[in-house]
Order: sequence, then structure tokens, then C-alpha cells
Amino acid sequence: MYERSVPIEYISKMRWCTSLGGNGEWDRKTLYDLEAWGGGSLAPVYEQDSPCKSTIYPQVRLEPLLKEKADTLAEGELRFGHELITLEQDDKGVIATVLERATQKTYQIRASYLVAADSGKTVGPIVGARLEGTPELLEMVTVYFKADLSGWIDDDRVSTFWFANPEGDTTAWGSGVLGKLGPTRFDRHSEEWMFHFSFKPNADGQYDADTLIPRIRELLKIPELDLELLGIGRWIVQGVLANRYRFGRVFLAGDAAHRHTPTTGLGLNSAVHDAQNLAWKLAMVLKGQAGDGLLDSFPDVPAIAEAGFKDLDVYAWQGVVVPAGTPKTIIDTLNTGLIKAIEHPDTQTRLRTAGMETLTSTPQAYAEKIKTESALWQPFIKELNIQLD
Ligand SMILES: Cc1cc2nc3c(=O)[nH]c(=O)nc-3n(C[C@H](O)[C@H](O)[C@H](O)COP(=O)(O)OP(=O)(O)OC[C@H]3O[C@@H](n4cnc5c(N)ncnc54)[C@H](O)[C@@H]3O)c2cc1C
Repeated sequence: MYERSVPIEYISKMRWCTSLGGNGEWDRKTLYDLEAWGGGSLAPVYEQDSPCKSTIYPQVRLEPLLKEKADTLAEGELRFGHELITLEQDDKGVIATVLERATQKTYQIRASYLVAADSGKTVGPIVGARLEGTPELLEMVTVYFKADLSGWIDDDRVSTFWFANPEGDTTAWGSGVLGKLGPTRFDRHSEEWMFHFSFKPNADGQYDADTLIPRIRELLKIPELDLELLGIGRWIVQGVLANRYRFGRVFLAGDAAHRHTPTTGLGLNSAVHDAQNLAWKLAMVLKGQAGDGLLDSFPDVPAIAEAGFKDLDVYAWQGVVVPAGTPKTIIDTLNTGLIKAIEHPDTQTRLRTAGMETLTSTPQAYAEKIKTESALWQPFIKELNIQLD
């Protein structure tokens, strides 16, 4: 990964801006640069928090790399083009029926346990898993393309450009998000790029090249951009969680168990975490070093629900920071303005579309909420042996 991934200096910032091109009053304005991914002044903080250096490798390139590695670890055991059709289980093991697509022949595999990392397509419905939450938050399109954008980019450190321009719609992704794909350069000369954007759901003809390419030029405000289309991906941003992760001898992992927005939580990262968590526990049980009960420590969602959580929420706060001694009238005016901006119907539409809810509160009430929440989490934190400062 480190040999092939993006050097940290080229991903150390996220940028919010109006457009890359255009000559209007509001064009080509940087609204905000945020240090990210452990680059810049974040480096010592990340170093302290993790034994591994932070890095990014585009997902379309990572999957072949993972396959290559898996092939060397389990030579001949990876079976692409083989589809699990059904399964049965009893208290001794699982029998999976598999179809070899090339020959259309089926065969059976008997195993002690089965890990379903099929993004919920087959195994979940068979074992009766229920995915709870919001199945459709946003409809997204990702366009992969080749283009020379170096003439419109002035900072090699930006990994991701979030656009906010009037040509987009009011959703967070409506104006588009641009990311680098390399493969040999990850500065402004990156040869390939991806552009994510959302549409109003169910509009006709929106996913073909004839619609998407002019739309990218329009959102970037570069009408003359010479662009070679490499591929189009269509995906739904979801917010769902399986009612359980364990069904007897079957475990759900990755997207089969949880699908969430890329903002604040990353699907692949958490899928890898599930695999890591399950792998060492299964190894110990299969080697006779631990009992089957160890596997119950794989996240058990109903236990969390029973502890009083209806949903998994993420709280963030938005406030105004002013210098000490600022007169109260100014603080009150800023506060009223901020609340007005948050309560504006456009802001509310954007937040709701992204699955968020606003609570306006006082510092005292907020502190109280944090106290109650953290008391609820204490048993889990203790059980997982995590220390919170
Ligand atoms: C455009 C886009 C960008 C993303 N960017 C990021 C990112 O930057 N960072 C991040 O962390 N996450 C990202 N994600 C999310 C990430 O892709 C997923 O969370 C992750 O791939 C989940 O891995 P998984 O192995 O659980 O499922 P998948 O990657 O969906 O793999 C499931 C596999 O199971 C196979 N399968 C399905 N049914 C069967 C069956 N019956 N028999 C045999 N095989 C079967 C499928 O063919 C597939 O290969 C992104 C997602 C999208 C769509």
C-alpha cells in the first residue's frame, strides 16, 4: 500500500470552493481549506493515535491490490465467478451451495462458520437479517475520467475539492466533489479523476455520457475541458444497520451489516475492521484456544439497542468563537444570526437530505446531553477496555 499510495503531502487538505474555472464575481473562490488525513499540522496527532501512517489509495485501484495479496496468502483458494446460492446450518456447521458460473455446475462446501461479506445481497435475506434505518438518502453518480486539470489547480496538497456553486442543487453533493485518482501523479497533474455528484432522484436519462460530461463541465465551470470518459458508477448513499451481526454460525460483515454515508464513517475502512475483528476470533475458536462464546463479542446490535439506543447517532456542534471580552450584545447578535441561518428552509433541506437533524441548544443543555450519552456508553467502553479522556 505504502509503495503505491498517494504521498501524504498530496492529500493533506480538503478544499471547499466555488469552481475551478469561470470569470464571474464568485468564480474560482476558495471558501475554506481544511487540513486532513494526517497531513500538515495534523501529522503529530495522527502519529500519536495510530501505529500506522495514514495513507490513501483510490478504491478502484485498491481492490485489485487486495486480490493480488489474498491470492498469495491462500493460493488457488479465491474463487471468482462462483456464486453462493443458498445455505443451511445446524449446531455443528454450515453447508453452502455454490454455483460455478462458467460451467453452471453447483457444489457444496461444508464449513464450521460462514462470513457473509456479500454486501447483503444473498446471505442476509436467507438468515433473516433486517437492515434498519434509511435505505435511500441520496442517489449519486461517480464519473471516472482522464483530463489535464493542472491549469485550473493552484495547490498540489488538496485531495478533494467540494464545490458550492449556484448551478448545483441544494444537496451537499449537488455541486460536485472532485478527487484525484493518479495513477502515476497525485499532484495537480493527476492523470485521472473522479467526480461525484447527486441528482434529484428518478430524473430520466441522467446517467449517460451525453448528460454527464456537459454537466461536469458546467459544474467545474470549464466549458472547454477536454475529457476522456473512463467509466460511470451509480450508487445510493444509505444509512442502514443490520438488526444482528451473528445468526448462529453465520456472521455478517462489511456492507452486509452496515451501510453509511462517506461523511464521518468510511464503508471500506469499517468493513476491514469487521474482517480483522472476526478473523482472529475465528482463528482462536477453530484452533481450540477459545470457546464459541468469544464470537459473541463480535458487535451485537440488539445488545446496544437493549441498553437504550434507538439509533446510532453522531453529534457535531456548530458554534461561534469570539475573543474574550466581546460585548454580550455582539455575542447575542451572532448567536441569533447563526440560529436563523441553521433554521433557514434551504439549510434544513440540505441537512435532512444528508440524514441530519438539528438541535438548537445552550452550552449548559449540551453539556448535560454529553453527560447522559457518555453514561449510556460507559458499560461498552469499559467492556472494550477503551480509555476516554
Ligand atoms: C463510489 C463509492 C466510493 C466509495 N468510497 C469509499 C472510500 O473512499 N472509503 C471507504 O472506506 N469506503 C468507500 N466506499 C464504500 C465501500 O466501497 C464499501 O463500504 C465496501 O466496498 C464494502 O465492502 P464489502 O466487502 O462489505 O462489500 P463489497 O465491496 O460490495 O463486496 C461484496 C462482494 O460480494 C460479492 N457477492 C455478492 N453476492 C454474492 C454471492 N451470492 N456469492 C458470491 N459473491 C457474492 C460481490 O460480487 C462483491 O464482490 C465507497 C463506495 C462507493 C460506491
